[in-house]
Amino acid sequence: MKGLVHAAIAGAVWSPTSWARATGGLTRHQHIPLTLERREESSQQVDSAAELCTTTKCRDYAKYILDSFSPNYTAIDPCTDFDKWSCDGWTANHQYRPEQSSLSVSSVLSDSNRDMLHAILEGQYPANSTFTGQDQTLDKANFDKMKTAYNTCMAEDKIKEYGLNPLQDLLDDFEEVFPMKAERDREGSYKDELTAVATWLQKNQVAGLLSSSPGANDMSPDEVIIGLDASEIQLPKAYYNKSVVLTNYTRAIAQMYQVLSSGDPIDESPIPAWKNSSLFEKAKRVVDFEKLIADKVAEPEVKNDIKYSYNLKTLGELDTLVPQISIQQYLKNLAPPGYPIDSKRTVIAYDIGYFGNLSEIIKTTSRQTLHDYFEWRLIITHSERLHSNYTAPVRRFKNVLNGKEPDASPLRWRSCISEVDDSLGHLLGAAYIQRLFTKQDKARGDQVINDVKRVFGDNLKYLDWMSNSSKAVAAEKVKNIIPKIGYQVQNPNEESPSDLNQYYTNLRLSADYFGNGQAGYKWAQNKTWHDLLKPTDRTQWGMTSPTVNAYFNPPLNEIVFPAGIMQPPFFNSELPNYVSYGGFGATAGHELTHGFDDNGSKYDVNGKYREWWDNETTAKFEAKTQCFVKQYNEYTVEGLEGEKVHVNGKLTLPENIADSGGLNAAFRAWKDRQTASGKQDPALPGLEKLTNEQLFFVSYGNGWCEKVRKEALLSQVLSDPHSPADKRILGPLANSADFKKAFNCPVKKATCDLW
Ligand SMILES: [Zn+2]
Repeated sequence: MKGLVHAAIAGAVWSPTSWARATGGLTRHQHIPLTLERREESSQQVDSAAELCTTTKCRDYAKYILDSFSPNYTAIDPCTDFDKWSCDGWTANHQYRPEQSSLSVSSVLSDSNRDMLHAILEGQYPANSTFTGQDQTLDKANFDKMKTAYNTCMAEDKIKEYGLNPLQDLLDDFEEVFPMKAERDREGSYKDELTAVATWLQKNQVAGLLSSSPGANDMSPDEVIIGLDASEIQLPKAYYNKSVVLTNYTRAIAQMYQVLSSGDPIDESPIPAWKNSSLFEKAKRVVDFEKLIADKVAEPEVKNDIKYSYNLKTLGELDTLVPQISIQQYLKNLAPPGYPIDSKRTVIAYDIGYFGNLSEIIKTTSRQTLHDYFEWRLIITHSERLHSNYTAPVRRFKNVLNGKEPDASPLRWRSCISEVDDSLGHLLGAAYIQRLFTKQDKARGDQVINDVKRVFGDNLKYLDWMSNSSKAVAAEKVKNIIPKIGYQVQNPNEESPSDLNQYYTNLRLSADYFGNGQAGYKWAQNKTWHDLLKPTDRTQWGMTSPTVNAYFNPPLNEIVFPAGIMQPPFFNSELPNYVSYGGFGATAGHELTHGFDDNGSKYDVNGKYREWWDNETTAKFEAKTQCFVKQYNEYTVEGLEGEKVHVNGKLTLPENIADSGGLNAAFRAWKDRQTASGKQDPALPGLEKLTNEQLFFVSYGNGWCEKVRKEALLSQVLSDPHSPADKRILGPLANSADFKKAFNCPVKKATCDLW
């Protein structure tokens, strides 16, 4: 299901230099003498005479790695501080843009991909297109559609011209559906009104009181089922206990009300404080209500657990649970004709605790508060398509919260590329793969993933905590895992201009930027809800092809790797194998291991959510996971006042299991390939003294180099299921006996182990 898909990388972050430019930059670490000795046993099974790779690709990569090492590396023990050892140079060489809250190897690669997309969208249709005839005509039409989306986003003068009008129109419509004061002559009950407004909000991109979306049924993956979830709140749950944050949030809302009521943009800082106390009172009502919801929604680690979140309920049961709103009627309004909705229809209620409290929430909340909350959700959602002068209070609040410079915003073209990626992702993806993704890349990607799958399956027989019957099923499950690599090839096929053209044919864009946003959402919603009329479409991807990330989808038992992540420094088919296996291979292993983390392991060989382990194996597995919980609970980051804040070992458990299992599998996969070749992988210029094994771990560690502002780091620790990047180096390496052997560390045993 959407909510439980496990991605490799947290958040969305952007950075100033592309990888290519970063490698062409500083040279000061290039000639540092490396004192690490090649270990004897590493060369026993293969020919010890490693060739030196001197191609441009190898030279660039070697230089990049040397630049990434700590300038002070000889004083650092790689066994305990591999994050600093391998990343301090990288951290020093990369500077935040004002609007960035973090900067990482993957965000630098994202930037590089984005630069390329920028050139495409600023350019003309390519004169050297490989398409001919009708295909070229359609490819050109697709290109023009992307350009329309991009150009209307870039036309800031026009956006400024329409000012607040489209948002005001939307708020007027809302007022018709749910006026602030009950109207005596209005037909129908309060319940009818709440049902109608919940529907209207969902159709206008807002989850008011509840949200809903169709997706694969975890217990019957080929069936599409409706999932229901809680209302939206703006901040991570844990922030609703922080009074300073809430005060700033309240002020930002009040200031936005002021902008809306005066119609005047705020051009420059400092933003005046609210002048009108009734606006402040209104803002406070909204924040208090969000706090009430925050108290009632499950903790993120609870919500991420399928045992908590998979609750099949009939609509009859839900309507009894929440008598103040007709969930049945709400879904009737949203589902396509031909999909019968009645009291016997079952849905999944993800956050069942919230639904248990929803009746009480509605009973104890005034109409006015609900009205103000719904209105605020509309404002915050749709103000993204207003001119930036109108949104200064919100921008400033968010920036400060994330440790960014208060008035910073990304260059407009960066936002507009994200926008095209959101609305026309397959078109942008098609343009991207035409230019950057080769058949050779695809073949090498297949090889890495198949190798990782094979060794993961082979290794099962060595696990002493798993019963033979469970091992047999696990091996079957590994075999069944479907890898998707590069880009979507069906519904639509990104290689086919006519397929793409047909796919987007009903999405009609104009020169109206605000209107295009609404049209795009309605088009996507229509597609999603029509999924209810057919079996689960297994060809779909949850990420676009230029994305630098990957994911595992439990009910579909699939691991998905967009072309965007299959680039240097994670992957390159012309670099020595240890580079791609230590980087991309570890990501492949990570996603595969998600099939066997504390959540994914509850899905069987066919992706069905059901218990398939015997009790003893389950008990031993759970005991072993406690080692990971304890290990990561002990890691700390610096809080805002310099205090130590602990990583949440339970919240991050699935990701930590996946990181360690993924690294182990990638190493074994690479080692097998090296052994089969009968010789060492080529050495790299300037890195000759590092063994192949050490370079494998260098590639792994480098992939997680990151710098992050402390406010953003704190937010991540409070709410993100991924551990901070430096812990994603330290934890898995502490859990890797292969790493300890490669670096001749005093402690040889893995701290925690599972897969
Ligand atoms: Zn993950």
